[in-house]
Amino acid sequence: MSEKINLTCIGCPLGCSIEVIKNGDTIESITGYTCKRGHDYAQTEVLAPVRTVTSTVRVKGGVTPVVAVKTKEPIPKAKIADCMQAIYDITVNAPVAIGDVLCDNIADTGVELVASANDVTA
Ligand code: SF4
Repeated sequence: MSEKINLTCIGCPLGCSIEVIKNGDTIESITGYTCKRGHDYAQTEVLAPVRTVTSTVRVKGGVTPVVAVKTKEPIPKAKIADCMQAIYDITVNAPVAIGDVLCDNIADTGVELVASANDVTA
C-alpha cells in the first residue's frame, strides 16, 4: 500500500515542500523539490535518514571543561543514541584545535568525531 510523506527540505533557506509517495522500501514518486539536492534529501530522509551530531566532550587541563564536537559527516539516525553515549565516554587532553579527530569511528559508524572549537591548555 502506498504511503504519502510530506517533508520540508532543509537543504537551503527556501524550504521547499516535498511530497514522497512510498510503497514499502520503494519510492514511487518525489515531487515539490526545486533542485537535485532536495530530491536526494527526500530520498535519503525516507529510506535511510541521517543527521550530523553536535555535542561537547570533556577536556582535561583546558581553559574550559568541555569542547564542542561534531560528526564529520552525517550518521544514521538510528545510531544517534549510541553516538551520544560514545561522546559522553570520551575525555581528551588540552590543547584541542578545530578539526582535531577525537574518535576515528564514532559508534561504529565509520565516521570521525572532530572538534569544532579550540581549547588551549590552562
Ligand atoms: S529543494 Fe533545493 S531549492 Fe528547495 S529547499 Fe531544498 S535545496 Fe533548497
